[in-house]
Amino acid sequence: MFSLNNLLRPHILTLTPYSSARDEYTGTEGVFLDANENPLGSATQGDYNRYPDPHQGAIKHRLAPIKGVRPTQIFLGNGSDEPIDLLVRATCTPGKDSILIMPPTYGMYEVSAAVNDVTIVKVPLTPDFQVDVDAVLAAINENTKLIWLCSPNNPSGNLLQADAIRTILETASQSLVIVDEAYIDFADTPSWTSELDNFPNLVVLQTFSKAWGLAALRLGMCFASEELIGVLNKIKPPYNISAPTQTLALEALTHEADKNNMVSQILSERQQLADNLLSLPIVQVVHPSDANFLLVHFVDAYATFGYLIEQQVIVRDRSKVKLCDGCLRISVGTSAENKRLIEVLQQMPESPSLTDLPLGTGEEATKPELVSSATKFL
Ligand SMILES: *Cc1c(COP(=O)(O)O)cnc(C)c1O
Repeated sequence: MFSLNNLLRPHILTLTPYSSARDEYTGTEGVFLDANENPLGSATQGDYNRYPDPHQGAIKHRLAPIKGVRPTQIFLGNGSDEPIDLLVRATCTPGKDSILIMPPTYGMYEVSAAVNDVTIVKVPLTPDFQVDVDAVLAAINENTKLIWLCSPNNPSGNLLQADAIRTILETASQSLVIVDEAYIDFADTPSWTSELDNFPNLVVLQTFSKAWGLAALRLGMCFASEELIGVLNKIKPPYNISAPTQTLALEALTHEADKNNMVSQILSERQQLADNLLSLPIVQVVHPSDANFLLVHFVDAYATFGYLIEQQVIVRDRSKVKLCDGCLRISVGTSAENKRLIEVLQQMPESPSLTDLPLGTGEEATKPELVSSATKFL
């Protein structure tokens, strides 16, 4: 049986949270002399002199039906970074507890654990970027507080198999299993939020930074049991989401169709970009993507990355990352940006490693194709 109390650090259980002025009086009418704000206005255009709603009630109210959850199952953070950090701090005692991650994956899980002096256990994904379920289950123990899954995964771009996630949720019943769905809008699959009522140890992260196009606002979503959301609310900085962010996110939520239109465009650009990359001799593999980026295996990733920078086309070098040898991660851009990328790559002078390849042995003829399994090039 899952017990949140067993999972939390003892002092978190007994912690008395800061009680803000806006907690102690929640009315909206009256003479507000309780928060030491500037009553005259702001030193810029616009009215920012009053503290924002510490619980972001309006956004949660509008977001809940869109996500099919209750407002009490939502925590909003200063980017996803904030819930990532709060989950570590709520559950992991430094020097004692650990988190489990599956490289190659998003870097912030590891950074947050490291900042908090918490042990990081790594169980690599399989060569086709799926969960090695047996290895994960063998690696967990009573000190494993958090198990991080990223689906669709960054940097590989693929969804993790639902069966694997389900097995981990069922078996690791004393750990929180976090599914980071930053790219879920680009995937053709339902969110794990629909399973929240079935798994008290499930946490789902989403963000306004990708499909919603609001990376600059810094607004991350965390969905979990009402009990866990209560704990996160207790330990967060009281006014963690600024008023402009709340106003703009609330506005964006009334334009969900615009978000969906952008997602459709990006998906069609993703397909075209993948096809065009595959037609280039310097590309060996374009990994299948359920996200808004492609992990691309180049004949010479190092030379290609440097050349692209010279041409002022900036992509992410992932070639030193586990299981991503020779790979660059390329975000899907606008039609014009993608076109520019392809043109520049077509004009890339032959690199020595290309010309050095022995001819006629079949080695240089590694025919580019979209493979469903990374084992193809390993
Ligand atoms: C981009 C991204 C996020 C979003 O982070 P924010 O702090 O919300 O901008 C979260 N997780 C993964 C895996 C990402 O790639």
